[in-house]
Formats: sequence, structure tokens, C-alpha cells
Amino acid sequence: MTNYVDFHRRSIDDREGFWGEQAQLVHWHEQPTQVCDYSNPPFAKWFVGGKTNLCYNAVDRHLVDRPDQNALIFVSTETEQEKIYSFRDLHAEVQRMAAILQAQGVTKGDRVLIYMPMIPEAAFAMLACVRIGAIHSVVFGGFASHSLASRIDDSQPKVIVSADAGMRGGKVVPYKHLLDEAINLADNKPARVLMVDRGLAPFAKTDGRDIDYAELRAAHMDTVVPCEWVDATHPSYTLYTSGTTGKPKGVQRDTGGYTVALAASMKHIYMGEPGETYFSTSDIGWVVGHSYIIYGPLIGGMATIMYEGLPIRPDAGIWWSLVEKYKVTVMFSAPTAVRVLKKQDPAFLTKYDLSSLKALFLAGEPLDEPTAKWISEALGKPIVDNYWQTETGWPILAICNGVESAPSKFGSPGKAVYGYDVKLIDESTGEAITEANKKGVVVVEGPLPPGCLQTVWGDDKRFVSTYWTSFPSKQMYSTFDWGVRDEDGYYFILGRTDDVINVAGHRLGTREIEESISSHPAIAEVAVVGVADQLKGQVAMAFAVLKDASRAANADDARKLEAEVMKVVDDQLGAVARPARVRFVTVLPKTRSGKVLRRAIQAVCEGRDSGDLTTMEDPAALAQIKDLVTPA
Ligand code: ATP
Ligand code: MG
Repeated sequence: MTNYVDFHRRSIDDREGFWGEQAQLVHWHEQPTQVCDYSNPPFAKWFVGGKTNLCYNAVDRHLVDRPDQNALIFVSTETEQEKIYSFRDLHAEVQRMAAILQAQGVTKGDRVLIYMPMIPEAAFAMLACVRIGAIHSVVFGGFASHSLASRIDDSQPKVIVSADAGMRGGKVVPYKHLLDEAINLADNKPARVLMVDRGLAPFAKTDGRDIDYAELRAAHMDTVVPCEWVDATHPSYTLYTSGTTGKPKGVQRDTGGYTVALAASMKHIYMGEPGETYFSTSDIGWVVGHSYIIYGPLIGGMATIMYEGLPIRPDAGIWWSLVEKYKVTVMFSAPTAVRVLKKQDPAFLTKYDLSSLKALFLAGEPLDEPTAKWISEALGKPIVDNYWQTETGWPILAICNGVESAPSKFGSPGKAVYGYDVKLIDESTGEAITEANKKGVVVVEGPLPPGCLQTVWGDDKRFVSTYWTSFPSKQMYSTFDWGVRDEDGYYFILGRTDDVINVAGHRLGTREIEESISSHPAIAEVAVVGVADQLKGQVAMAFAVLKDASRAANADDARKLEAEVMKVVDDQLGAVARPARVRFVTVLPKTRSGKVLRRAIQAVCEGRDSGDLTTMEDPAALAQIKDLVTPA
């Protein structure tokens, strides 16, 4: 087998050959005539001339070899349900859903907005859309009406698929009134709202608009809905970024490139084999849910677990019990979830038989070394950090195990993934950095590989101006993350470019300071932000959550611990990186997808308005910080 350096180089130098081969991992109704058309940069068209269907590759294709194998395993610890769909069952359900959508007049190119909890019908709806060439736009269930309304206006759906309620931690979270409010607020009203009634929360119906899923499903039990063969470049879906740095951007994904990219990633990155079980703990509202709860595992002929519930309910062993029960081989989660587990009894991690599990993949936020080590030792399994964005749809940086079994380095999401011509750019000169261990902005030289965003939905100009104009060379896609590469080609992400702190002329990534603080045994998680300071330009401020809150129960204890933490930073990074204050809080403000909202913390610390908070999980978290930093 070729070594990874050669494998990667070929993916860049012989793009046509490399991706032409990967394309053979999927089914084409008509083979592409051109691998990549980059005649109009930065717009890349992959697999031009090819016709395929995402649903066909995820479902129908497996009816020959594995019709009775598990495809979708639904587990809800909220409603105490467990339901398994074979590929044959899934095929039938998706056709029923597709028939319902068609009966409402949905055809190729129409948008369908999906605002749903983690239930199988959400998966049916996604697959049904791409089956008939409709473009889905999943909005995280539980987003408030204002966020939902702006997404309705942006995607202008003909139909919205929703449910009466989600559940979280044993509490019913009703959706329908939020949806009704959002439709009221929106300028574009959908013709129909298809309601899945779980019987959790009674809701008001709008005559002529709201229709009942169960009733319509019963009328379409045996309907056959063939796959619509679409051009490889036909959009499959739109999805919004998490909104960590401001207003979310509507990412538009293609069909052919995405199918190929996911199929290849199952083989080269996730090491998932047909017949095995994949368990991603994300939500269908996020990109990880799209790529690695629904499409990736199914394209790869794997069973996928769709889990509704918390990681610690009924207890912190729930995920691992599912690994044992369903012989999960590949698991995918986020650092934020691991930090939740870190606060629980570690005995839960060894209570179950995890022998089937090959590796735990983590993405979404910087994975600090102490957390990575903790989970790796507790599970006794390889931990693979992988770095990517909603925009890219699959990893930019990772360890590609299919082609290289290089050990991963703690604190690093690995090397540039095949297909990505990753570079570090010096912000002051705009030039690519060639030497090791020098900090710069992580960019990808165009064209972006298959599977990445085609454009910003309905706004080509925004696509170009947002991502491709940071540097004099217009061929560089900016990730807006700041990083460094070591002599072995491993990257380390240091934080977002707007999170870089400038203390008396020293540029520091918030991530470096956070990593250092996390190494103190009392700390569960921490956020560091730069705050304007008259003397130094900026100072670092840290807000930390303790594993055991009683360690800072009174002001004296808190001061003592604060001094200890500062000492750790002094010793590891030097006094220049020492935060001005380390404050203890019980929870950090995060987006619903689990990312720390550093810009909001910074704004509060500087007494400014905290901006768009529509994707925030728990407003009380920010209030806590406000109380701490506002002089009494
Ligand atoms: P927005 O773009 O709307 O501000 P967002 O960037 O948080 O929101 P996502 O696409 O969900 O939206 O997140 C991608 C970002 O998450 C990356 O750009 C990076 O900052 C961070 N990230 C993801 N994975 C990792 C990782 N493994 N290590 C470090 N950072 C990561
Ligand atoms: Mg982003």
C-alpha cells in the first residue's frame, strides 16, 4: 500500500486520476465525462456529466447484497423506544415519505425544510427529498421561532416537515407553536406543513396547510417512487453553519461530489466496513449529523444509530451500553460531550464490552490534550481528532487510517486529508509558510475537493467575498482558523482568527491558553477570550468550569485556585500568556452544537452588545459571566 504522503500528493497533483478512481466507489446512472471543471474559480464543478442519486447510493444500492441487514437503529432514552429498520424497511419508509411529498407538489429543485427531533421520520424525510431531487434544509429542532423564520425565508420551502415535540432530559419540548410563530414571522409561507404526531404535545392545526403524516403514510403504504437521476452538480441540501462567529451562512452542497467524498471517507478515514455499525452522537441539525449519522454510514452499507437523549441519562454508561449491544465499530462524538463525561464516574466507561469498537472520532471543537488522554485511557481505544467545517462536509485534517496507520498526536487533528491542498498563510505577508512550527491562517488552495460547499445558497457573491478574498491570491479558501504545522506535517489548531489575542505585541491563540489551563486537574473545561486593555492592548480572561464546583465554593478558595491555575500557565507558556483573571462558572455559553461562544463572552467582558445569540444553548450561562464581570 502506498504511504500517505504519496497518497495525498497524488490527490492534488493528479486530481483527475485520483478522484476518478474514488468516484467508482459509488453508483452512477450515467458516468461523469469530466472529473473537475475549475474553469470558473473559485466555483468547482465535480463529476460533470455524471448522473446519480444520493438516496439510491444510501439505500437502494444495498437491497441486492444486504436487504435484511440493519440500516437505521433508532434509540430514544427519552421515550424509551428502540426501533430497527433494515435496508428493505428503510427503502419502503423513504418511498412512503417521498410519495407524500410528491402528493404535495414537491418536485426536483423544490426546497423542503425539516424541523424535527431525532426520530426516524427525520431521516426518512431527508432521504425522500434527495430521492426525488428536492433540496432539504434541516433546521436544528428546538431553535426558536426567530432563527427558524430567517431560515424559512432564506430557503423558501414548499413544504415543512415537523413534529409535535422533541424531548430532552425527560422534558417535552413542544415544537409546533414555535413553528407556527416562525411561519407567521416569515415572508415566505410554505404551502404545507407535514406533521409527525408523536403524541407528546397537543398542537393547533391550520386547516388547508397542516397535514398528518400517519394518515398520509397509511394511504401510500405500497407506493413505488423511483429515484430521480440528477446531475452530479444538482444541489442535495442547504445547511447553516453553527453561527459561532456571527450570522450563520447557508452552505449549498452538490450531489455527486458529496456522495463520492463520503464513500471515500468511510474507507480512508473512518475505517467503516459494510455490515458494521456506526454511532455518531451528533444531531441531524448539524453537518456531522448529515454526513455521519445519515449519508456516510448508509452509503458505506453500515447500520447507523440515531440516538435521541442525553449522554448521561439514565446514566453515563448509556452510549457504551449501545456500543456493546449493537457491536458498534466506529463512534463519532464531540469534545464537548467528552467533557460532560469527564465530570461523571469513569467506571461507566469500562462497564460494557467495547471490544467491537475500533476508534472514537471527535470533531467540532479543539480537543485539548488532557481531555484526549483521559478518554483514550478510560476507553483503551484510539482517539482520532478530526477537523472540518459545515462548509466542507467532511474532514480537512485527520489521520487517514485506511492508508496510513501513523499514530495520532494528542492535541493535533492530524494531517491534511487527501484532496485538500492545505496551507498556512502568514497574515502579514499573505505568503504561504513553508517552515515548521510557525503560526498562520489555515487555508485550502482551490479547487476545494468534492463534497465541499458549491456556494452560499442564493448568494454567489457572498461565497466569493466571505471565503476567497482574505489573501491577495484569490485561490485560497480561508477556514478562519489559526494553526501551526510541525515537522511531521501534523497540524494544531490554535483558535479562530478573530480569537487571536494580542498581549503587548505577542500573538497568542486562545486555544493555547485553554489547553494549558485544562491541564490543571481541577478543571473540566475553560474558555479564554481577549479583552481590550488600555495598557496592554488586550488581556486574556479565562472562565473555567470545575469538575467539582465545591473547590471554589467561597471567595478564598476561588482565589487560591485561581493563583494555582495561573501558575500552570506561567510554567507552561510564560507569564505573557497568563490570564488577567480566571473566573469560575458552572456552565459556559455555547451554541446548540456545543461550541463555546467566545465572541459573546468577549463582548460581555468589554461591555458591548453580545450580537446574534439565536443559536445559543443556555442564556443563563452568559448571564453568569455578565454578573462576574460587571462591577457591583
Ligand atoms: P460560524 O461559521 O457560523 O461562525 P462555526 O464555524 O462554529 O460557525 P461549524 O461549521 O459548525 O460552524 O464549525 C466549524 C469550526 O469548528 C471550525 O472552523 C473550527 O473553528 C472548529 N472545529 C471543528 N473541528 C475542530 C477540531 N477538530 N479542532 C479544532 N477546531 C475545530
Ligand atoms: Mg465557521
